[in-house]
Amino acid sequence: KVRVRFAPSPTGPLHIGGVRTALFNYLFAKKHGGDFILRIEDTDQTRYVEGAENYIMEAMNWLHIPFDESPSKDGGYGPYRQSERKDLYLKYADDLIASGNAYYAFDTADALNEHRANHEDQGKTFIYNWHNRLKLTNSLALSVEETQAKINAGEPYVIRFKSPQGETLHMKDIIRGGITIDTNVLDDKVLFKSDGMPTYHLANIVDDHLMKITHVIRGEEWLPSMALHVLLYKAFGWDAPQFAHLPLILKPVGNGKLSKRDGDKFGFPVFPLNWNTANGEVFPGYKEDGYLPEAVVNMLAFLGWNPGTEQELFTLDQLIKDFDLARVNKSGAKFDFEKTKWFQQQYLQEVDDETLAIQFSKLLKDKGITTSINIVPIVASLKERATFVQDIWDEGSFFFERPTTYDEKAAGKAFKEGTAEILSSVATIINGLNSFESSHISEAVKGWITSQEMSFGKVMMPLRLTLVGEMKGPDVFEIASLLGKEETIARIEQAVK
Ligand code: GLU
Repeated sequence: KVRVRFAPSPTGPLHIGGVRTALFNYLFAKKHGGDFILRIEDTDQTRYVEGAENYIMEAMNWLHIPFDESPSKDGGYGPYRQSERKDLYLKYADDLIASGNAYYAFDTADALNEHRANHEDQGKTFIYNWHNRLKLTNSLALSVEETQAKINAGEPYVIRFKSPQGETLHMKDIIRGGITIDTNVLDDKVLFKSDGMPTYHLANIVDDHLMKITHVIRGEEWLPSMALHVLLYKAFGWDAPQFAHLPLILKPVGNGKLSKRDGDKFGFPVFPLNWNTANGEVFPGYKEDGYLPEAVVNMLAFLGWNPGTEQELFTLDQLIKDFDLARVNKSGAKFDFEKTKWFQQQYLQEVDDETLAIQFSKLLKDKGITTSINIVPIVASLKERATFVQDIWDEGSFFFERPTTYDEKAAGKAFKEGTAEILSSVATIINGLNSFESSHISEAVKGWITSQEMSFGKVMMPLRLTLVGEMKGPDVFEIASLLGKEETIARIEQAVK
């Protein structure tokens, strides 16, 4: 059975790159009838950020991407926080020492810094590996007795992986194909730290194995770790999962990786939800900016994947059906903010008028506006011009606020000699109507215009200005109908007096 995991470290808010990783894992799992697991990788206590795990859960809930197993939903493979599994890892590090695949290293931070500095002086990079490990302070360089003595004396140590010397490693990535690497370029990564905690590498491999993960789908930034991970599986004698490294998400302009500050710079959110930092700084999120989760999911799906057809709108269910790792690109995916808005605009049209009216009425309430007008038809008539609920207000605030001024340029054209008389006549006609449906108002007013042998513009332009304040909005008779007879007449009278 397919089992995949999303394994974030709770070091801050989830950036859309992380959400994309989660989404692709979810789609892959559901496509293959498998399980999608959340594992919190919190072994690095120094980077732990309060509230980050909660944020991850809330963001995924908002996007309607459910986990089959998580810290709050045990599926028999828990616990799902590495900090709660910490007693489990040492044994595996010990096993690697016993099998000759790992060793104790006693180098102090100062000693390592000195080595690094010496190498840099010679224009070289210091790598702790086969080349120099015997010149350093570790159990490969010391006798068994010396090593034991250091341990007995309580000297701090780490456990390092002994990367093989002179081997060519052949690996396979579902997205990138075959990858070959010379093991001599690998450094002996720390697996177990002096603080008694495993590093990411050890905990990640042990947990993927114990949780029976079949596919590791993660961001390209982890590609450099793949060789070590494959070697670790070999050293343990375990079958490795299959790997798929998703392409980087790039800034909309230039070539760099999208970062959390890019949101500020280019004016769009890079987080699903608002993130409040400890010092009160707020990074905006898609949710609070008025995006629909469907739009965000659709946008994320296209960051690196495409269906190979012209179709652009995909619900989660359609994505599950069509998603295929084989159609994920290797090359970086440029973040396209305009496209994101386009998705949002498309999905807003799908929201039914009643639901949208409820959201819009909240916005009215926040503005302190009370109204007796039925807002459902107003929302319905403005929806197609809107990308966000806020746009309905920007496009239609005149429904709720009688204009106090008129657009100067338009007024210059519309309000001429005789306009006041014309508008007064229109008010009289309107006053006499029994039905206030837009088609009836239209019929009556247009009939009158025709009977007067007047041009339509002479009436329609000033009428729109009196009702709206500027030359915008839906059909003018629809506006009148929505405003109601009394308000329509009041607005005309205000203009002519
Ligand atoms: N904890 C790693 C992260 O924060 C997980 C990487 C992986 O999926 O192996 O992204």
